[in-house]
Amino acid sequence: MTGSPPRDRGVSRPILFFLAGPLVAVSCADGQPPRNLVLLSVDSLRADHVSALGRTNELRPDDLTTPAFDRLAAGGALFENAFSSSSWTLPAHASLMTGLPDELHGVHDNFQRLAPELDTMAELFSRRGYRTAGFFSGPNVHPVYGFGQGFDSYVDLSHVEVDPARLENHQPGDLRDVHLASHQAITSPALLRHASEFLEEAAAGDAPFFLFVHWWDPHYDYLAPPEYVARFVDPSYAGPVRGLHSAERVLRMQPEDLRHLRRLYDAEIRYTDDHIGELLDQLDSAGLADSTLVVWTADHGEEFHEHGRWGHQRTLFDDVVRVPLLMAGPGVPAGVRVGGIARLYDVLPTVAELLDLPLPGYVLGLSLAPLWRDPEHAGYPAVLRLAVPRQGYPVDLAAVRFGHAKVLEDRSNQRTVLYDLERDPGEQHPIPAAQLGIDHRSVLARAQAELEALERHKLRLPGRAQSAELPAELARQLGAAGYLGVDDDGAGED
Ligand SMILES: [Zn+2]
Repeated sequence: MTGSPPRDRGVSRPILFFLAGPLVAVSCADGQPPRNLVLLSVDSLRADHVSALGRTNELRPDDLTTPAFDRLAAGGALFENAFSSSSWTLPAHASLMTGLPDELHGVHDNFQRLAPELDTMAELFSRRGYRTAGFFSGPNVHPVYGFGQGFDSYVDLSHVEVDPARLENHQPGDLRDVHLASHQAITSPALLRHASEFLEEAAAGDAPFFLFVHWWDPHYDYLAPPEYVARFVDPSYAGPVRGLHSAERVLRMQPEDLRHLRRLYDAEIRYTDDHIGELLDQLDSAGLADSTLVVWTADHGEEFHEHGRWGHQRTLFDDVVRVPLLMAGPGVPAGVRVGGIARLYDVLPTVAELLDLPLPGYVLGLSLAPLWRDPEHAGYPAVLRLAVPRQGYPVDLAAVRFGHAKVLEDRSNQRTVLYDLERDPGEQHPIPAAQLGIDHRSVLARAQAELEALERHKLRLPGRAQSAELPAELARQLGAAGYLGVDDDGAGED
């Protein structure tokens, strides 16, 4: 079973039966194994803003934030406790694509790129004869970071053009045209159009395919089309919030402002979900749904002043690291809710198991199939990292999340704290050192062991992250989107 995946399954199945081991046990339960993969990642989609994970629209309860996500989840496995590897796009996608936590792929900030020696998901598929295509918007999944490796075509659909001089000394509201332009240019319709065209061609061809789409719209700013805003937002709101991050991140928000902000965010989520729903309908009508595994996730969440700020890439609290994750299609049981901890770096090993893809030996993630087979499975300890030393707001955090514990290590001041998420789900009250009991100490020791294991694992890696040379246009995009410390240096935050 090497080379291209079989086209004639009647012939190949007996061979699979003898050689593929556990794969058959999964696949036979639902008939044929999956032949294709569609991987969808939605930027900044916080887990608890997904309706299947609890978000409700108080104004119009029947108008869900994510009906397409919910429909797909009902026919597959929904991971209720899935975690990113970090709290922003670049390292999270590096983790998703390589099966490695941040400490191992080593891409921590906007000046580093993946080691070319690391195999990305697209490279593994390409080597097996798959057609591979990626469509993305947003500057942090740019090919300069290595994300184009293995794709036959990797198409940038983001266009934010702004004079860098305008990013300096601007007043609140000054950049509204830029944000509007970015909203109008970096939108779901272009992604849908390109991804649909690819599906059409793939359906007409013989080769199996891997399609990756990165949707950007729920990333701030929250500027959904007015008809969507009208469905989620209270028209009587009279405060200052318009959903513009660069201008409003420093506002002292009242509860009604935060409520309004989250409703604007919901409108963008629904706008994106509708486009993804259309793409999934096309998968169906092209006759591909029965042979295609769909994975839908997000790179990170968003903070809404739970810890004093709006945005992401500053902390490792669950608000920003817990993400939606579902898998649906052949090989995945329908209607399963998985409670065990899943990690973005487990997506590649799971996909590899279901599609019979050889995995490099250094991959640290594990298949998530055991979690949907065994409802008691606790999942795997999620190692989280945020280290952006060169972007104007030095942060150096590591965390380990398992059971209902989070151990959070601030390496800038050598301080380690423990949160009990069962008693303190909002992570507001680290357990005081004087109250640390023997159980707490064993939790701390286990977290320490997880982090130390990563250091040993580094010896197995074929290469290290390298410096990335940012094209001027990309640097402008990153600045306009609030990265590189240009527009969003954290100075106004706590
Ligand atoms: Zn992101």
